[in-house]
Amino acid sequence: MEAWQKQLAAAITEPGEIAERFGVDVEPLRGVVARYPLRITPHYFSLIEAPGDPIWRQCIPDPRELHDDLQDPDPLNEESLSPVPGLIHRYPDRVVLLVSNACAMYCRFCMRKRQVGCGSQKIDLSAALDYIAETPAIRDVILSGGDPFLLPDDELADLLARLRSLSNVEMIRIGSRVPVTLPSRITPRLCRLLKRFHPLYLNTHFNHPRELTPQSTIACRRLADAGIPLGNQTVLLQGVNDEPGVMKKLMQGLLAMRVRPYYIHQLDLVRGTGHFRTSVRRGLEVMEGLRGHTSGLATPYYVIDLPGGKGKVPLVPDNGEWRGNRLLLRNYQGEIIEYEDTDSGR
Ligand SMILES: *Cc1c(COP(=O)(O)O)cnc(C)c1O
Ligand code: SF4
Repeated sequence: MEAWQKQLAAAITEPGEIAERFGVDVEPLRGVVARYPLRITPHYFSLIEAPGDPIWRQCIPDPRELHDDLQDPDPLNEESLSPVPGLIHRYPDRVVLLVSNACAMYCRFCMRKRQVGCGSQKIDLSAALDYIAETPAIRDVILSGGDPFLLPDDELADLLARLRSLSNVEMIRIGSRVPVTLPSRITPRLCRLLKRFHPLYLNTHFNHPRELTPQSTIACRRLADAGIPLGNQTVLLQGVNDEPGVMKKLMQGLLAMRVRPYYIHQLDLVRGTGHFRTSVRRGLEVMEGLRGHTSGLATPYYVIDLPGGKGKVPLVPDNGEWRGNRLLLRNYQGEIIEYEDTDSGR
């Protein structure tokens, strides 16, 4: 067994193990775990400093997950945007391929909470691959899940080779939280394998500065050294990263690890995640804390994924106002600067 497989085999899957380490009453968690599975890698578990901290909140079940009847299990309508099993086709030129139902850790706020960690972990992708082959408009394929890096190397290589053999597929993206939750999975062997399938992009998912560990730094360095441009998608989470200072530290730390912040997501309205919600107003304040105050590269798009699968829309703090042909623009220091809008009369 490789080191990462040992980590997975040693994952915390029973509330009793949480009680052992932290001496808290975990009886109320048993019902939660029966509905939404528990899995935490020893690496991620070791990052918890105290109950209720930002690491704890992301991985330890919470009874509130079961008392959230107002939200929808599938608000983005992914099921009906799925022409064949395992594929979501919402935008004309790109698709999401759900290659696995398993993750190294089950994040309590997961947008695919309804299926991740549940049922069969294997997905038959033959219909999805045929669909991509028969749909010339698709040029960008995003491997997601679940976590694509939970596939064994040979299965992943096989899948990437099959996608690469399709002439319409110009690029492949992988979405994986493994650099955060199971960094030992990013082996030199995996990186050598991935290198054969360029252009390949990877978006990972760091949510808090305490996740930026030496182990994750090594994982990201290996991927970047394999020539893979690294991006990050953060989810805005109440009590985790909904503070401008925390978010700035996270974004700067990511850049120092050669990871470019790509999106900050407003949490989707997924059933079982209501206790993580933050207002859009708060999200905009967090964004205000970035733009102009730190490297532009540390300022991703803040996006809402519209209910019903209507697409992602970027939000920016309200910083401009038209007065006839003039724009009144507010800079990062709060000054209002007038800008005359002209064109060459073309
Ligand atoms: C987010 C998403 C994409 C990719 O969007 P980009 O803005 O291109 O990163 C594609 N399909 C679905 C269904 C998505 O949710
Ligand atoms: S790694 Fe991603 S897909 Fe897996 S449980 Fe966490 S948020 Fe969901």
